[in-house]
Amino acid sequence: MTVRTRFAPSPTGYLHLGGARTALYSWAYARHFGGTFVLRIEDTDLERSTPEAVQAILDGMKWLGLEHDEGPFYQMKRMDRYREVILTMLEQGSAYLCYCSPEEVEAMRERMRAAGEKPRYDGTWRPEPGKELPPVPPGVQPVVRFKNPLDGEVTWNDVVKGPITIANKELDDLVIARPDGTPTYNFCVAVDDWDMGITHVLRGDDHVNNTPRQINILRALGAPLPEYGHLPMILGADGEKLSKRHGAVSVMEYPAQGYLPEAMLNYLARLGWSHGNDEIFSMDQFCEWFNLEHLTASAAQFNNEKLAWLNNHYIKQADNGRLAELARPVLEREGARLLSGPDLPAVIGLMKERANTVNELADAAMLFYRVPKADPALVAQHLTDSARTALGQFAERAKSVEWTRAAISAMVKEVLAANGLKMPQLAMPLRLALTGQLQTPAIDAVVELFGRDTVVERVEKFI
Ligand code: GLU
Repeated sequence: MTVRTRFAPSPTGYLHLGGARTALYSWAYARHFGGTFVLRIEDTDLERSTPEAVQAILDGMKWLGLEHDEGPFYQMKRMDRYREVILTMLEQGSAYLCYCSPEEVEAMRERMRAAGEKPRYDGTWRPEPGKELPPVPPGVQPVVRFKNPLDGEVTWNDVVKGPITIANKELDDLVIARPDGTPTYNFCVAVDDWDMGITHVLRGDDHVNNTPRQINILRALGAPLPEYGHLPMILGADGEKLSKRHGAVSVMEYPAQGYLPEAMLNYLARLGWSHGNDEIFSMDQFCEWFNLEHLTASAAQFNNEKLAWLNNHYIKQADNGRLAELARPVLEREGARLLSGPDLPAVIGLMKERANTVNELADAAMLFYRVPKADPALVAQHLTDSARTALGQFAERAKSVEWTRAAISAMVKEVLAANGLKMPQLAMPLRLALTGQLQTPAIDAVVELFGRDTVVERVEKFI
């Protein structure tokens, strides 16, 4: 059997973290077996689906690099197929026309509630051998109902939650087509999973209630049943359902905040699945390891600090040129004078060690791209007479010293020794002269990056 998985989002909003994790696991499972990952857009809810949401989902998948092998299929483009299956089911007797009005159905539910029973359709139009159906009322457009088995139960061995059993008595004769002929949600999902040859359905556990209905429809169609796995929700750090209040819930807010996709992927991979104590792994590694046995059955809690820690790890690994391209628009937004400063990738390389996000990195890099404006109080404190003398010698020697970090460092030490100063007595005013602030990376590295001309010019101006 070739593994075929799918991600089937409803385009009613952005791609949220839970959806991205579902997509990741479905993708990885297909990759693990060299199978096929299908993308299906479940856009039949016309009131809530929007083209912007479709685009947001596609953008999110692209950013994460979760490439689909087939699709995207759009349910709205499959209406003819659904109609065809409905007709077949009507012919075969696994579905029937029901002429009850919505008011009648509501009234029968009300009666059952009053009698202390579970409200359900009472089977008025359900054909049974020897049963006489009511006369067809004129002018009424019927719905199509699925003839759900009356007895027995539906059981599946959920790959996340273990065996789940639902009695058929609990399930209604589901409406599969509305009076205008449009098919309903569970029916479309079942037909799609069948047509698309889906072998493993991984989805959020808000769909557990749909699964027995879909299984019954698939059985009636004579379709093979996929394996089902229902992933628990992602909760905020406070144990509440993840929402805006916890920060970003849309995947695409993360690149905007300066997160790398590999950090997000690694984070989501571990959020609900484990491989021993491994915390940091590549997607190749994940696809090799991923299995359904180690999915976590309990809800996962989102932890921003851990995501930031992973992001820092991947920033340190990332190519400086790539980080520079990500940081560039942020720097430009902040008014950085990129052309009159040092080479951006080199600056990134110096600063990336301590940054949790690309945006933090850009903020830190700003120090190289703005006109330094030191606080006069700090200048008064650090630009002592002896510092002024030492800075003068430093500027003189900077004009001819070999422009490498090692040579600059040696020169600085010689200037210190000649003036009987300690490192901070020269480094602090030098920092103020070059950047306007006291916190910078190692001073020899900063000097080297600014380049000879800028260093000499700023120090001379400063003293
Ligand atoms: N369209 C559903 C959703 O976005 C998922 C359906 C499924 O995976 O079966 O929640």
